[in-house]
Order: sequence, then structure tokens, then C-alpha cells
Amino acid sequence: TAKQAGRNGYHVFDTESDRQAKVKRDNLTRMQAALDQQEFCLFYQPKVDMRTGEVLGAEALIRWQHPQEGILAPGRFLPAIEDTDLICDLGRWVLKDALQQLDLWRQQGLNLHVSINIAARQLQQKDFVDYIRNLLMQYPYLAPNQLELEILETAALDDMSHAHRVIEACQELGIRFALDDFGTGYSSLTYFRRLPAEVLKIDQSFVRDMLEDPDDLAIVEGILGLSNAFRRKVVAEGIETEAHGLMLLRLGCNWGQGYGIARPMPAVELPAWIASYQQPLSWRDNAH
Ligand code: C2E
Ligand code: MG
Ligand code: MG
Ligand code: MG
Repeated sequence: TAKQAGRNGYHVFDTESDRQAKVKRDNLTRMQAALDQQEFCLFYQPKVDMRTGEVLGAEALIRWQHPQEGILAPGRFLPAIEDTDLICDLGRWVLKDALQQLDLWRQQGLNLHVSINIAARQLQQKDFVDYIRNLLMQYPYLAPNQLELEILETAALDDMSHAHRVIEACQELGIRFALDDFGTGYSSLTYFRRLPAEVLKIDQSFVRDMLEDPDDLAIVEGILGLSNAFRRKVVAEGIETEAHGLMLLRLGCNWGQGYGIARPMPAVELPAWIASYQQPLSWRDNAH
């Protein structure tokens, strides 16, 4: 009977998927409103040369200043929009806001490099390069090489030839590319070789465990060897302790980022942090 049908799989399943679709729509509406109402902001995490103590730049990391829930990290809200056009709108806002900030710092006499995370869907957009070119034209006093774009290996895999063209076109403008979370994707070494990104960012999971886990240490060493062979630069992510940094320096990796150096912070705090930063003595002593 109809009543029985209502209790069996089909109808229950439909209701559940309807509910999920509604949650998703509500999320989208809510985040679109948040974008319009400027509830998003960028935090900045410094990237340093551990050997010299020089601050190389900072990575822009998005936060949602949620009126009820406080400051939310991207893991809480990006996954819901990653396969929608909203991630592209948000991505354009990130680029705009970061360049504006970079120009403000420049006016204060601080010339920094900023890294920006680019979503896979954003990279695949037809007008991505045009957008960046136009944006840069609005800031004639910024050098394009102050901008670095971070992508996941997997972002390029969807449409390798398009990604390749986008990377090369951006490089012609003077922008650098970094492969984020390197080592966690599924790309083969052939793909890696074909991607003309200048920088590899060793994923934090390998760095975190490398002092206890010989396999992770081997992966870190492998990535460093690979980067030497292919003349790419390397940044280690997730440096939480002095010992992490020391090990990386011994392995020949000077550039790093992590809570042990600084947590992501609001833009206004960065200049004072830079002015006062001193690397641990053991890192300095290990200079070669
Ligand atoms: P990611 O680009 O790999 O950024 C590094 C993440 O690791 C950041 O998390 C950072 O706060 C965190 N982190 C840094 N140092 C340490 C450490 O020593 N230990 C640990 N446990 N974590 C550390 P966050 O800010 O939550 O961002 C997570 C991810 O969200 C980013 O990973 C990036 O993939 C994405 N994301 C952030 N901002 C944006 C954005 O503006 N656009 C896009 N498309 N994605 C973004
Ligand atoms: Mg990143
Ligand atoms: Mg990463
Ligand atoms: Mg990550």
C-alpha cells in the first residue's frame, strides 16, 4: 500500500536527499550573504628563511568572522562550496583583498610576498588569467613577483593542458606558482615534471611525523632530492617545533612555515611580528 511505500527505502531515501539538498542550498545562500556583507577576512602566516631569520613573505588564509559562531577556519565552510561557482567569487575576493593589503603594506614601506591559495575550479576558469592581469593593473606599484599562487597537484590534474597554459601565462606576467600539500596527491612524477611550478610545499603531515616515523622522513628527503634534481624551491609546512626546523635545515631545507614560527594572524599584526622575529639560536648555529 501507499502507507507501506512511505516507510520503505525509496521514500526515506528521497526525503534524506531532499534534506541534504536543502542544507546545501541554505549553506550557499548563507555564504553568498556573508560575502556580500564582508564577513570574510584574510589571516596571514609568515614564511621564513630558518637559517637567516629573514621573513620571505606570508600566506593568506581565509577566515569567516561568523556573527554567531566566531572565527571559522576554511575547513568548516570551503568544502560545501568547492564544486560551486561561489568558490570562484570567493576566490576573486581573496585575490582582491590580498593585493589591496599588499599595497597598503607597500605604502608603509614594507615590501612583502604574499601566497594565495587557488581552488581547482578557479584555476579551470577561462578568464582566470585576464582577471589577475586586470587586477594587477590596478596596482601599478606592486611587482607581480610579490604574488605567488598555491595550487594542489590535483587541481591541475582535471585538465592538465589548461592548467599548464594558465601557469605559463601567469608566469609571463611574473607570478610564481607553488604546488601545495606536495606528496599527498596522486599525480605521477611525469605530471609533476610537466607542471612548471617553481615551488613545492612539503605537506605538513610528513613534517609533523618525520622525527618519529622513518617513512615520513624518507618522503621529506625524497621530495628534497626531487626538487634539487628539477631545480624547484621547497617550503616545509607544519613546522611546530624547533626540532622540526633543525632537522629540515640539516636536510638542506631552509624555507619554512608553521605554528612553531608563527600562527596565522590578522593583517594588522604582521608588521610588528616581522620587526621582532628572531629565529631560534639552534637554527642560526646550524647555518652553513
Ligand atoms: P594550506 O594552504 O595547506 O594551508 C596550511 C594550513 O595549515 C592552514 O590551515 C594553516 O593554518 C595550517 N597550519 C600552518 N602551520 C601549521 C602547523 O604548524 N601545524 C598545523 N597543524 N597546522 C598548521 P587553514 O588556515 O585552516 O587552511 C586550511 C586549508 O584551506 C588551506 O591549506 C587551503 O587549502 C585552504 N584555504 C585557506 N585559505 C584559502 C583561500 O583563500 N582560498 C582557497 N581556495 N583555499 C583556501
Ligand atoms: Mg596553501
Ligand atoms: Mg598545504
Ligand atoms: Mg592543506
